[in-house]
Amino acid sequence: MARIGFIGLGNMGTPMALNLLRAGHALTVFDLSAERVGRLVAEGAVGSETPQGTAAGAEAIITMLPAGREVRAVYGGAGGLIEASPPGCLLIDCSTIDVATAREMAAAAREAGLAMLDAPVSGGVGGAAAATLTFMVGGEAAAVERARPILEAMGRRIVHAGESGAGQAAKICNNMILGISMIAVAEAFVLGEKLGLSHQALFDVASTSSGQCWSLTTYCPVPGPVPTSPANRGYAPGFTAAMMLKDLELARGVAQEAGARAELGAHAADLYRRFAEGGGAAMDFSGIVTMLRGG
Ligand code: NAD
Repeated sequence: MARIGFIGLGNMGTPMALNLLRAGHALTVFDLSAERVGRLVAEGAVGSETPQGTAAGAEAIITMLPAGREVRAVYGGAGGLIEASPPGCLLIDCSTIDVATAREMAAAAREAGLAMLDAPVSGGVGGAAAATLTFMVGGEAAAVERARPILEAMGRRIVHAGESGAGQAAKICNNMILGISMIAVAEAFVLGEKLGLSHQALFDVASTSSGQCWSLTTYCPVPGPVPTSPANRGYAPGFTAAMMLKDLELARGVAQEAGARAELGAHAADLYRRFAEGGGAAMDFSGIVTMLRGG
C-alpha cells in the first residue's frame, strides 16, 4: 500500500480520498477548508496545514482542485509541490483544467526529475463515492502503469489517452457532450411539460429510446425518475454550474485555437453563463432546467 498525499477535498476529492483510505493506503491530506481536512482525519488520514506538507515521504500526490489557476498555485513556483516532492514521487492531477497548463506543469515536473500525469475523471460524485470513475490519463506509459493500482482504488476504467495533456483533451471533449446533452434533456422535459406529458412518461420512453444518454438516465434534471439525481435535493451539487461553465469555456478556447467548429458547445457555454450569472453558479448544472422553464 502506498503513502499518498491528497490535495483538494471538495465534492469529488472527499469521496475519492475516502476510497483510497478504504483500500488501505496511508493518506496525508490538505484543503483550504480545515473542516474538510477534519472529516478525512476522522476517517484515518493525517491532516496537513500546507500543500507541501502532504509531500513528505509521499510515493504519489493526487490533486483534485477547481481549475488551472489553483493547479498552478499548488504545483508551480518556489515552494510549490514540484519543488517540494521527494525524488520518485508520482504527481497525479485529477482536476479538469486547460490543456496548456497541464502540459506546462508536466514539463516543469519532468525538468525536476518527476513524472506527472493529467488524470481527469468522469462519473460525477456518485461515481466518486462508488469508486466507479473513469480516468482519462495523459503522460508516459510507465507512469500510467505506476498510477494504475492507485487509480483503480477510485475508479473502474483507466484509459491512457496519450501524451501529457491528452487526458484533459479527452475530458474537455466529453464535458462538451455533457453540457450540450443536459440542455437537450432539460429542453425536452420543459417541452413535455407544456404538452401535458408527465416527467415519468417522458423518462420511460426516452430512457429506452434514441434519446437515451447519461444526462437523462443517471442525472435526470427533473425530480422523480432518477431518485439519486440532484433534482431531488433542490439541485444541490454534484457538479456546479460554475464548473460546467469553466469546462465549456475551456472547450470553446481550444476549439478556436484548433480551428474546430463547435457551435453547440459555444451556445451551451452562453446558456450556462446566463444561468450562472443569474444566480445559478453554485447550483448543480442540471438546475439549468429552471432557467429554461423561464423560472
Ligand atoms: P469543489 O469546489 O467541490 O472542490 C474543490 C476543493 O478544492 C475545495 O474543497 C476547495 O477548498 C479546494 N481548494 C481550492 N483551492 C485550493 C488550494 N489552492 N489548495 C488546496 N485546496 C484548494 O469541486 P469538485 O466538484 O470537487 O471538482 C474538482 C475538480 O473535479 C474540478 O476540476 C471539476 O471540474 C472536476 N470534476 C468534478 C465533477 C463533479 O461532478 N463535481 C466531475 C468530474 C470532474
